[in-house]
Amino acid sequence: MQETLPKEYDHQAVERKWRSGIDQNIYRFDWDSDKPQYIIDTPPPYPTGNLHIGNSLNWCYIDFVARYKRMRGYNVMFPQGWDCHGLPTEVKVEETHGITRHQIPRSEFREMCRELTITNIRKMKETMARLGFSIDWNCEYVTMDPSYYGMTQKSFVRMYSDGLVYQREGPVNWCPRCGTAIAFAEVEYEDRKTVLNYLYFGDGEGSEDSEGSEGSVGGKDDEEGNGGDRNRRLEIATTRPELLPACVAVAVNPDDERFKQFIGGTITVPLFDYEVPVIADEEVDPAFGTGVVMICTFGDKQDVRWWIEHELPLRVAIDRDGRMTGVAGKYEGLSLSDCRKAILSDLEDGGLLYRQEPLDQSVGACWRCGTPIEILSEKQWYVRVDQDAILNIADEIEWIPEHMLIRLQNWTKSMEWDWCISRQRLFATPIPVWYCKGCGRTVVAKEEWLPLDPTEFSPPDPCECGSGDFTPEEDVLDTWMDSSLSAMAVSGWVFGRELHVPTQLRPQGHDIIRTWAFYTILRTHALAGTRPWDSILVNGMVFGEDGHKMSKSLDNIIAPEEVTDRYGADAFRQWAAIGGATGSDIMFRWKDVVSASRFQQKMWSIVRFSLPHIAGVADAGDGEISRDSLTIVDLWVLGRLNML
Ligand SMILES: [Zn+2]
Ligand SMILES: [Zn+2]
Repeated sequence: MQETLPKEYDHQAVERKWRSGIDQNIYRFDWDSDKPQYIIDTPPPYPTGNLHIGNSLNWCYIDFVARYKRMRGYNVMFPQGWDCHGLPTEVKVEETHGITRHQIPRSEFREMCRELTITNIRKMKETMARLGFSIDWNCEYVTMDPSYYGMTQKSFVRMYSDGLVYQREGPVNWCPRCGTAIAFAEVEYEDRKTVLNYLYFGDGEGSEDSEGSEGSVGGKDDEEGNGGDRNRRLEIATTRPELLPACVAVAVNPDDERFKQFIGGTITVPLFDYEVPVIADEEVDPAFGTGVVMICTFGDKQDVRWWIEHELPLRVAIDRDGRMTGVAGKYEGLSLSDCRKAILSDLEDGGLLYRQEPLDQSVGACWRCGTPIEILSEKQWYVRVDQDAILNIADEIEWIPEHMLIRLQNWTKSMEWDWCISRQRLFATPIPVWYCKGCGRTVVAKEEWLPLDPTEFSPPDPCECGSGDFTPEEDVLDTWMDSSLSAMAVSGWVFGRELHVPTQLRPQGHDIIRTWAFYTILRTHALAGTRPWDSILVNGMVFGEDGHKMSKSLDNIIAPEEVTDRYGADAFRQWAAIGGATGSDIMFRWKDVVSASRFQQKMWSIVRFSLPHIAGVADAGDGEISRDSLTIVDLWVLGRLNML
């Protein structure tokens, strides 16, 4: 069995040989096995076409676990899914074909999205193969396939009949750029510099002493004995002057002596000249701004709370595209930023704006595109959130590292609204619902009709009122409605098998605890009455060599292919194994990859050195060695090896 090896370790040649030489069936999950099951709820990446370095690190961890568990005698499933639906693909298709999604039929647009997704999946699978992951490709799922989205629809129908899915009109987070409602989990709070504008409410016109009261606090004039006129003037500080036409009330703290005489009266909104009530609420901070706030429908979450609590009317000033509506009068049709400029300049001209100061503010923005979100009142579909149930289930799960559980708990406790699941997009799972034209009733599909697109398929049975005329629901489902079923999908549902939940392991990044982890717990509990996994392994992000998050603008992105081309997959995997730390962000360093590749050269040299020394070992056929030809030292080494 003597061979001569080249002196240099040629990782390209060796890895190529093993990539093509391994029978992929050895990674196969056996549905009928007696061995203990070990199902991994692998993340389904979004098919961008690039398996980035952060994914690759995470998949290395998953692969290490899968191989280890196989060696320990488990029946391991290392499945792979693809979370296809969503906005980035729609945008890419629009760019590539020079169209907008409204210009062509829905089905044609979806087909273009499908084609792009298939191409991208192929590219990412190549990278996965190159990195040597032991994925069981018999257990692959693609969320845009009817087999998967039919399952998402089935879960919708079941949760609807259990009263866990419902539709209502009310405030919802809206991204004007994406043109869709989004869930709270998709709102990212960013610190931004903004301007706090001090305005006069009341009186209608700027009064003569407006110059003199520069920098004064609200109610000053009344302290000087000019009180008595309830609708006189209040000073209000706001960062959103463009929301003046959406103002429905002005609030003060009930204990604030300065404004007591205003409570219960009304005051005039500047420029728009209509009256709003002055109300008292303990949530108003007397120390912020002037101690007087305007309540608009809706500037932020606090406005929504006040709106509900004080049963205030609704004034919709912003439309779905982020433009001013008719209630904004002469500002109708302006974008938010143009409207803000115009209103500020008109306030200034009227002597109604008396001070401006910079302010650091936390602004809610769409996590996909970074556009500041608006809160609009819309009819949307929701999933009921049972906070206690989620917290209880989360406690049953082993969190690695442990402190990641706190992140989920904090998020769960902070939830005030149910999960908004409808989206005004196209490339996503259709909501299997129609509205009867005869009586207006909502008709939800029967399970046996699924999968379906309500815009292409009508209910075979007439409505209870006798009418057979339906309007299809055109909204689609949040993509998290697809991916939050992953544990149930791989453990049987999508393969037409009996459910094997809980699965054993969920590996995922810490950035999606409040979305993917949270929603999976919610959905598995709602649909299967149990936890989705025994353990969750949370990994960090990979930063560039400069210590910053990898981004195009910093030009610090390293593609995994760049590493494998130069040093091989094993060097990459060794970097992941040695540099890795669960839960923490880690830095990519070429130095570590280089030292890994040197280590491999050493191993190669050791083998090369050993070969002549074991030349005398006889071949007993079938790749086995003849024991008689071994020395006592050889036997000792083999014995120790077997104990590992
Ligand atoms: Zn957006
Ligand atoms: Zn009807």
